[in-house]
Amino acid sequence: MTDIKELLLSRIRDVADYPEPGVMFKDITPLLADPAAFTALTDAFAEIAERTGATKVVGLEARGFILGAPVAVRAGLGFIPVRKAGKLPGATLSQSYDLEYGSAEIEIHAEDLSADDRVLIVDDVLATGGTAEAAIQLIHRAGAEVSGVAILMELTFLSGRPRLDSALRGAPVESL
Ligand code: AMP
Repeated sequence: MTDIKELLLSRIRDVADYPEPGVMFKDITPLLADPAAFTALTDAFAEIAERTGATKVVGLEARGFILGAPVAVRAGLGFIPVRKAGKLPGATLSQSYDLEYGSAEIEIHAEDLSADDRVLIVDDVLATGGTAEAAIQLIHRAGAEVSGVAILMELTFLSGRPRLDSALRGAPVESL
């Protein structure tokens, strides 16, 4: 394992049975509190933004905001939040997706994207892939392309990656 992976892994806290029984919650707050780890993560994501030719960074509510905003600044790109339904005041595009029980809906300000944008999607954890897949669909519906999906951790047993691969038109999923 490379040094950066060891550093990042050492700053992620596993919390059993949170927020409900059977879930192992990946808590990134120790990583955020450590400037060396937070900077290393930001640099690694910014490198992915540059390598994939991103023109914008999209962060997924809520931890994708914390991780994505400094990546946008570091890479010299604009930042766009993808929010849960009902939180954005302007004209939005909405996308719903299935959860284990029920469904959820996310939104983006359509005017923030244009047809020549290539968007890097940033979040902390890829689980089933439902949230990131809906974000990809939103970006495509806005007429833009996705340059890649950058995530800190991938829970491979939940098979999010194949789901994203089929939505991504060849763009990479990069998990650190
Ligand atoms: P999913 O749509 O199933 O891929 O879930 C991804 C979203 O839920 C991300 O925004 C994560 O922040 C959050 N998430 C899912 N599972 C976990 C977990 N075990 N620990 C922390 N966050 C999680």
